[in-house]
Amino acid sequence: MFSKILIANRGEIALRILRACKELGISTVAVHSTADADAMHVRLADESVCIGPPAARDSYLNIPNLLAACEITGADAVHPGYGFLSENARFAEILDAHNIEFIGPTADHIRIMGDKIQAKKTAKDLGIPVVPGSDGAVRPEDDAHAIARDIGYPVLVKAAAGGGGRGMKVAKTEADLSSALSTARSEAMAAFGDDALYIEKYLGKPRHIEIQVLGDGKGNAIHLGERDCSLQRRHQKILEEAPSPALNTEQRNKIGEVVASAMRKLKYRGVGTVEFLYENGEFYFIEMNTRLQVEHPVTEMITGIDLVNEQIRIAAGGSLEIEQSDIRFEGHAIECRINAEDPRTFMPSPGTITYYHTPGGLGVRVDSAVYQGYKIPPYYDSMIGKLIVHGRNRVECMMRLRRCLDEFVVDEIKSTLPLFRDLVDNQDIANGQYDIHWLEKYLSDAKD
Ligand code: ADP
Repeated sequence: MFSKILIANRGEIALRILRACKELGISTVAVHSTADADAMHVRLADESVCIGPPAARDSYLNIPNLLAACEITGADAVHPGYGFLSENARFAEILDAHNIEFIGPTADHIRIMGDKIQAKKTAKDLGIPVVPGSDGAVRPEDDAHAIARDIGYPVLVKAAAGGGGRGMKVAKTEADLSSALSTARSEAMAAFGDDALYIEKYLGKPRHIEIQVLGDGKGNAIHLGERDCSLQRRHQKILEEAPSPALNTEQRNKIGEVVASAMRKLKYRGVGTVEFLYENGEFYFIEMNTRLQVEHPVTEMITGIDLVNEQIRIAAGGSLEIEQSDIRFEGHAIECRINAEDPRTFMPSPGTITYYHTPGGLGVRVDSAVYQGYKIPPYYDSMIGKLIVHGRNRVECMMRLRRCLDEFVVDEIKSTLPLFRDLVDNQDIANGQYDIHWLEKYLSDAKD
């Protein structure tokens, strides 16, 4: 087992990892920018190293400084959390070259899944259902119109190098295709310096359902069920729940086994999430995230498995000790992302937290790194914490969530709490009837 882990992240996830290390008896090193000198992850770690000025590219993304921090403290492993360097294959390779363990999958797996076209091809070869579409990139000499006609309209033109929903254009009919292609091509070139495009069938009302996997890199892998993350705004998840209100046990076990078997063939190591769009009973692969996800606690709440603990054990060479038949899904869990944002416009709203009170009680978990008097720096993501509640069933979970939202106070900044208070009283949400477009429509209706 490792003796000292450096946590290459900040905020609530740095704290989450720190907690797992402490429970395993592993020493911790926090790293921080000058803007985060007073942050909670720095206070709670055994050691801390300042790795640069506020801008992430100079600190949390600064590989030489992170390496120096490992050398100074003698850390034998690095946990990257999510975001920042968590899906950077080069970082994993550099650590490896320095005999420092990267707590995550192999650099090769990160690289394959980081390339949208290669990821889709790999998924398909492994037997995972994908969105019908062009076979790889559409080259200039290809007849894009024939390809689109074959797939059937509406189609979605996507940038191979895409990310964050950029470089994507819908063509409803053949008449829209040429302009969709040229706009997507120039957007992709401007955003990613790569104008390779591919075409997919456009799904009108899908849900976003993702499968959590855990593998040991030795050919053993299991799935931990799904999370439904359909409540999104501009492709950003806002609320996540498990299990999905749209799936029954048979459907869950079926897609879970397809994904777990693919991970066994791949000899995937660590935690990962295979994301799907789900429509009319069919799953369509969109991407795989080769890291811990923000919304991992909902899975932990219904399975009782500590995913970070598993990540660390496996990175240290351990084998998977849990079998698929050991996994029991108990009750229902919902997570709300508490962002320092205006609840209607979603404009970031950094500032000082003058009063802070978190809910508690049975089945309640708050993962956050803020405290009363904390000044939220303007340089990073606006998420300041997550409220996760568990109930014996979805109704109890919703009742508990409503109660917790009433107790939660984060003053004097603007936060997404009022939005969640509205959402828990909404009939569609109560019924679990929503797709990936539901929230945007709800917000635009509320404006009128
Ligand atoms: P990115 O890497 O840019 O986030 P994704 O492929 O993950 O791109 O897709 C982002 C979002 O775009 C999805 O969550 C979904 O909302 C939408 N989307 C992607 N592919 C399709 C599709 N074929 N049909 C409908 N919506 C899609």
